[in-house]
Amino acid sequence: MSSTPEVSSLPRGEDNQPLPIFSGSASINDSNPTPSATQTVGVANEGDDTDTHFQKKKRVKKSAVWLEFTEETINGELKARCNHCKSVLKVHKSGSTTHFNRHLEACIHRKKNQIQLQQ
Ligand SMILES: [Zn+2]
Repeated sequence: MSSTPEVSSLPRGEDNQPLPIFSGSASINDSNPTPSATQTVGVANEGDDTDTHFQKKKRVKKSAVWLEFTEETINGELKARCNHCKSVLKVHKSGSTTHFNRHLEACIHRKKNQIQLQQ
């Protein structure tokens, strides 16, 4: 029977370093409402701005279909040009590339290239 006593008798030296004391910040009776930061009232083009804002915030990861498409900006709009048949597809802002895949499946030029590669 060996009972391990959990008495840690480590000698604790007194801290000589004075800790910074935050006085008053923890009081519950803090009836001082924090003054809200000055709100910038300069909202212009709120509707048009959302798209670019979204793109900046969340950059869509490039999917594998982009290996067969080339990004092109036509009239300020982002487009995708098929590397095989040079046809231009719309680039969805949501990052959806399902229509790219659909095009690749139906792209005759691509099929030709694949057949040539197999020979
Ligand atoms: Zn194509």
